[in-house]
Amino acid sequence: MSERFIYADNSATTQVSESVLQEMMPYLTTAYGNPSSIYKLGRDAGHAVENARERIAAVMDCKPKEIYFTSGGSEADNWAIKGAAEKMAQKGKKHIITTAFEHHAVLHTCAELEKQGFEVTYLPVGEKGLISAEDVKNAIREDTGLVTVMYANNEIGTILPIPEIASVCREKGVLFHTDAVQAVGNVPISIKELGVDMLSMSGHKIHAQKGIGFLYIRSGVTLPNLIHGGAQERNRRAGTENVPAIAGLAKAVEEACADIPGKSVRLTAIRDHIIDEILARVPAARLNGDREKRLPGNINISFVGVEGESLLLMLDMNGICASSGSACTSGSLDPSHVLLSLGLPHEVAHGSLRLSIAEPITMEDGDYIIEKVEQVVRRIRDMSPMWEDILKGRNGMEKIMKFVSPVNL
Ligand SMILES: *Cc1c(COP(=O)(O)O)cnc(C)c1O
Repeated sequence: MSERFIYADNSATTQVSESVLQEMMPYLTTAYGNPSSIYKLGRDAGHAVENARERIAAVMDCKPKEIYFTSGGSEADNWAIKGAAEKMAQKGKKHIITTAFEHHAVLHTCAELEKQGFEVTYLPVGEKGLISAEDVKNAIREDTGLVTVMYANNEIGTILPIPEIASVCREKGVLFHTDAVQAVGNVPISIKELGVDMLSMSGHKIHAQKGIGFLYIRSGVTLPNLIHGGAQERNRRAGTENVPAIAGLAKAVEEACADIPGKSVRLTAIRDHIIDEILARVPAARLNGDREKRLPGNINISFVGVEGESLLLMLDMNGICASSGSACTSGSLDPSHVLLSLGLPHEVAHGSLRLSIAEPITMEDGDYIIEKVEQVVRRIRDMSPMWEDILKGRNGMEKIMKFVSPVNL
């Protein structure tokens, strides 16, 4: 096994930070009360929840009562979309606009609503994986009741023009939700200035534990409940609060958002070094997603003649954790819907590698990644019949090769 270990899959999940764990500890041990109980042990737990809500609201620039804790990003997305759909149906509206490359928590929710009679427009994202506010504007109809567009894509890292889309939606009087799971902690966000109606986030992508997140719901917008039961979360989301996770989430949000510009500069330098070096050293490769409008930690490169799975296993043997396509689709042989939404042929989409780096990664770690990716791709290609076809210039390869950098023989 390798002597080094580099975790480069932070868009899949992150390690819980030491300070987040410390913040959680009392509520996992001595301060175990139920926030709804009236004795002090319970009240203390209740204060912890409200304190976390206030701290998160302060960082995100919204009101505490606009933050609703959920079990994570998927629940927040489901609640926002199903809730908005139910409301708009009451007004006779049945059209929803989203993009072709959303997370499955959004896409599968929309597909479910289609079965119930809603109409969904999936905006194409083009070869760079972007849409414009103009695209949204042109898709809005009389009966459009909801627009849901992600802030940053989890696979190819593109950052979408959410403030502009929000103002188009406000102008047209259409509810706007954004899945900001990958953006929080990477893009400076003031919810007030952003002007969205709903925003989803998840803790485990920013060093909190799995199973916690929140949905921001602008005051004035009332969503029907997704989970019915007790009176928690202002009667809107039942279930005894996950107090330790909520306390940890507040710490994680504060830390992730403390120095976004500084962190962004540091990570972007390492990201760009990795991208530039891999593209310079490895032929028949392409960077997926826009070069500039991109998360500081995201690298997504396709290699022709390489199976994503083999690439991941061989990188793992070298101590590097990465992913190919999305974590949810690995295990199936279908290439990711995100890469296909860019118009890539299956042969190119299959050989893709996503590295999502986070601090405390160093430039030296970056050099190690570059060296191993180059080695591993070469080794896989040496055994690939498709690579042999390309080297021999056999017919049928042109349609694939036009998507990637040339092979100079
Ligand atoms: C991870 C992720 C989710 C799902 O969040 P969970 O907390 O794992 O349910 C939703 N959207 C995006 C963009 C994500 O990256």
